[in-house]
Amino acid sequence: MANSSWMYSCHEASRMISDALERHLAPTEWMRLRMHLALCKMCRDYEQNIHVLESTLNSLGNQGTQDDQLSDDEKTLIRSNLNSILRDADDAL
Ligand SMILES: [Zn+2]
Repeated sequence: MANSSWMYSCHEASRMISDALERHLAPTEWMRLRMHLALCKMCRDYEQNIHVLESTLNSLGNQGTQDDQLSDDEKTLIRSNLNSILRDADDAL
């Protein structure tokens, strides 16, 4: 059986990918995530999507006048909505 307890499932990996945006992963968490990503294209795509979203959110916050800027609360809200949309899409596969 190829199942290894040290390896993240896709569910755990996707959670770690979004956690990594909020906090620093522990070295073991980071290692296990990288191991999973090395083997799993679906989660690599997920990570890429997250980073695209993240840089989109950052550029939204950085351009325009003060009035156009999203507050940190708004960014967090948008990010968590997008995360849940992405996760639902993953679950549907
Ligand atoms: Zn995966």
